[in-house]
Amino acid sequence: YGYAPFQFNNIRALSKLFRETTFNTFLPAVHANVTVLAEALVTKIRFNDTKTIGVEYVQKNEKYFAGVRHEVVLSAGAIASPKILMLSGIGDETELAKFDIPVVVNVPEVGKNLHDDLFVSAGFSIPEDKDVPVYSYSLAPAVIFGSTENSSSVVDIECSVGVGTLKGFPGPKHSFWLWPNVMHLKSKGTITLRSTSPDQAPLVDPKYLTVPGDLQSCITALQLGIDIGNQSSLEQWQQKQIAPEPGTDFESYITETANTTQHYCGTCRMGIDQSSVVDTELKVRGVSALRVIDASVFPLSITANTAAATMMIADKGSDIIIRSYHQ
Ligand SMILES: Cc1cc2nc3c(=O)[nH]c(=O)nc-3n(C[C@H](O)[C@H](O)[C@H](O)COP(=O)(O)OP(=O)(O)OC[C@H]3O[C@@H](n4cnc5c(N)ncnc54)[C@H](O)[C@@H]3O)c2cc1C
Repeated sequence: YGYAPFQFNNIRALSKLFRETTFNTFLPAVHANVTVLAEALVTKIRFNDTKTIGVEYVQKNEKYFAGVRHEVVLSAGAIASPKILMLSGIGDETELAKFDIPVVVNVPEVGKNLHDDLFVSAGFSIPEDKDVPVYSYSLAPAVIFGSTENSSSVVDIECSVGVGTLKGFPGPKHSFWLWPNVMHLKSKGTITLRSTSPDQAPLVDPKYLTVPGDLQSCITALQLGIDIGNQSSLEQWQQKQIAPEPGTDFESYITETANTTQHYCGTCRMGIDQSSVVDTELKVRGVSALRVIDASVFPLSITANTAAATMMIADKGSDIIIRSYHQ
């Protein structure tokens, strides 16, 4: 349903090519009213009853408290934002009770609804006498959008295309690859605490392929990748199919090799229903002066990579905040 070279915002510096980042783009140095504390770990949000009063953090082994006049905006991402909320007493009260965390407000959906995309790999060897272009970067140069339902109204495959000469690629140099990324999977995972230690990563259980239908979507996507690789127009480049090897059982191949696309989202879901974690102004339900603005608020998965949509949520969120102070 569409093919394009991948579009990257690149900057050239010191004769090397770097990808543009939100840090480069929204460089805080140009904003006199922003103070950035580097290498500071937020350990807890503090409340007076249900009013947010500030943030506890650790920097160079020293503990600090930053009080707020207006509000706290939590933007620690889809894995750390629910963790910080839970450590602060906002979450499923039965989960919090396991760690003796005093409940500020019982919001059972904190850390639920974890969504991610999965990609599968179809690889083909290229004859040794062919010159394969060498890439100085590791990013797939092109992308194809497709559908597991063969329908233009259901676009749920984003298939990256690349060759073995991409920088850092672990496989054979003389190879080309199709990596169909399957979006809108129905399996939803969870983020839960392992302990009350802010240093410890939470338990991430993506529950991949647990809902019937998701495995079939991955099989269909893999078959699409294989079919594209076997097209007659690629004949001169295609020596043989190397992954999965012909005759391989797709189900076990996918279970063993399907991988995260790092598109985690949804763990502090936004919604109009009372069980959502944040409302449509991104305010955490049940407390005041606290918003979440990051990929964790996605109510649904999206038909794309997640960075641009997250930046748009940030843009919209800042607009909502500015307007709320001018009402
Ligand atoms: C390896 C990788 C490659 C990716 N490639 C792409 C891509 O090519 N295109 C695309 O669209 N998307 C890509 N993504 C996804 C994209 O990066 C994310 O969707 C996006 O960054 C999410 O933004 P966020 O603000 O929600 O979280 P993040 O970008 O993760 O920002 C959260 C920030 O909070 C900080 N933080 C967390 N906990 C604490 C704490 N306790 N105290 C202080 N700070 C804390 C983190 O250090 C981090 O800087 C990729 C992700 C990964 C991991």
